[in-house]
Amino acid sequence: MDIVKSVGEASLDVEVNDCAAAEIPNAHTQSKPLHWGHLTATFLVLLLFSWLGIVLSRQSDGVATIWFTNGLLFALVVARPKNTWIPYFIAGFLADTLADVIYGDPLRLSIGVAVANSVEVIISSVLLTRWFGSPLQLTKRLPLLGFLGIAVVGATALTSALGASWTLLFVNAGPWWMLFRTWYLGDVLGMAIIAPLVFILQRPGFFTMLQSQQLPRTLLLLLVPAAATALVFSHSKDPLIFFIFPALLLVTFRLGFPGTVLAVFVIALISIWFTVTGHGPLMLITGTNLLHKIVIEQIFLAVALFTFFPVAALLEERKALEISLQKSELRYRELANADALTGLANRRAFDERLEEAWNWATRNEQSLALLLIDVDLFKAYNDLYGHVGGDECLRCIAKVIASALQGRAEIAARFGGEEFAVILPNTTVETAVQVAEDVRHAVAGMKVPHSGNQLGIQTISVGVAAGVPHRNAAAISLLTASDHALYRAKYLGRNRVESAAAVINRTEMSTADSTA
Ligand code: GH3
Ligand code: MG
Ligand code: MG
Repeated sequence: MDIVKSVGEASLDVEVNDCAAAEIPNAHTQSKPLHWGHLTATFLVLLLFSWLGIVLSRQSDGVATIWFTNGLLFALVVARPKNTWIPYFIAGFLADTLADVIYGDPLRLSIGVAVANSVEVIISSVLLTRWFGSPLQLTKRLPLLGFLGIAVVGATALTSALGASWTLLFVNAGPWWMLFRTWYLGDVLGMAIIAPLVFILQRPGFFTMLQSQQLPRTLLLLLVPAAATALVFSHSKDPLIFFIFPALLLVTFRLGFPGTVLAVFVIALISIWFTVTGHGPLMLITGTNLLHKIVIEQIFLAVALFTFFPVAALLEERKALEISLQKSELRYRELANADALTGLANRRAFDERLEEAWNWATRNEQSLALLLIDVDLFKAYNDLYGHVGGDECLRCIAKVIASALQGRAEIAARFGGEEFAVILPNTTVETAVQVAEDVRHAVAGMKVPHSGNQLGIQTISVGVAAGVPHRNAAAISLLTASDHALYRAKYLGRNRVESAAAVINRTEMSTADSTA
């Protein structure tokens, strides 16, 4: 049965629809205020780690195997806005001085040492954020190489030179060169291990590695370098140190930069512990004191992290590139299917979807509906308001069509020029006509002025066709049927919906049996 429904009068009681694009919020980034709780916590942690560093150095022949605080403070400040830095530098200086004084060093010596340590942190933070941007991205290759060169190798040398010179003014700690070397290696390790560790702890992505689904895998993978290190360093007869590298490589590939930093930290803790307590392959170096063995241990750790951090950073960059390529591919796919003027689907996408919807309706013997929408007297609109005004009007109409459909359509497309098409799957002709009426009312409700139209506003006409597709029929028959209905809507005076319902096949394409 064919149904023809026509609506002559447009109900114009809807408010003028503003189809201007929503304003994009101002994305201006503001400098964050200082957080006193965080500052106090930082001071206490720095105090604890400074004290721990001094204790460690006194228990291993005066060698600071690893000096934690500079790397810790550096990683905290470079992740924050520059306007909050000075209180953190002051907290670092005070914590360092206090830890030395608590340990029993003279105040003037303690102050000088704290100044030397502050120089390292301040120079590294200022230069690196100036050259590589703020906040500093340590997992990117260039900032990482800058960090390794400036903070790990350069600033630590200056601090060690200052610290060694100042210390020798107060105590007799042997030759300057020896004291400098001891200080330098501890500082290099601390900066190189602790700064990336604190940096990744501050990244939101780090904790996904520790979430309940990921945690067993993370722990299992970290267990590999931990076990390898324990095995190698509990064994003092053979120099099996090279076994640690494949274990670390596994973590680098599987857990990325955060895992690599954690693994190096774990390896450092285990290997330093064994070496200081007189175990491991470094005991095979005969005729040297513990200081020399610890220096070799430090060089081993430095080589490990100078090798694996850049690899991890490179892998992370590759991954980021892969994600951005996937996103841009998706974006281009969307663009290939979108109409540039209106943002609706384009003709290409429409043809594909119509074919799919048609085949689905055929297989499932369900009714498929199509709305063909044509803007009334649009040539006159262009003549009256200009082509640019016409484009704007088309954009508004497209937007209103999309919102009036309320998700009921499979696709809303710009069919061509000033014509739009809507596919409604599993929809009878009665429902499709109702949807078409909603769309027609919504467009009229915008009250876009059109002095060339009888009603004084812009309107549309809609041709509706719906039916259960015949086995041997083609999708084009639905298109032809709705085109005929649209033609009739124009013929009967525009601003109206006309419809045709049919069991559609190649021989029954006409709407001649529709009732007006
Ligand atoms: P009817 O009510 O019978 O549909 O009259 P009409 O003037 O809309 O019909 P016609 O097909 O003669 O004119 C369609 C006009 O739409 C002609 C063309 O200039 C205009 N048009 C097509 N595409 C665009 C477009 O992208 N931008 C603008 N501004 N106008 C367009
Ligand atoms: Mg037209
Ligand atoms: Mg038209």
